Amino acid sequence: MEENLIKRLMTSIKCGVCGQRYDVDNIDVLGHREDLWFLRVVCLSCHTQALVAAVVKEDRLPEVITDLTEAELDRFRDVGVLTADDVLDMHNFLKDFDGGFFRLFSQK
Ligand SMILES: [Zn+2]
Repeated sequence: MEENLIKRLMTSIKCGVCGQRYDVDNIDVLGHREDLWFLRVVCLSCHTQALVAAVVKEDRLPEVITDLTEAELDRFRDVGVLTADDVLDMHNFLKDFDGGFFRLFSQK
């Protein structure tokens, strides 16, 4: 699927902190595995940066699996043990994701 289409679909997703819808310009497509897409989003309104995992199919709205703010991601990384299965899946994905993901987040 085209990344531009993914971005357009993701504008239906709202910021988990303030409820503002994400703007196409503030969505970065990081990668995908089949229908599971990983994106980095920045909220226009409250400037929260989040990592979103969503199942995106052309014929329906994206289904957000998890969205983690940068701070939450740091916390999970420190703890090392996750309870929620979906987050664990995402963690496993990220481990396979050529390591680039956490590098993205460690860039200040
Ligand atoms: Zn926000």
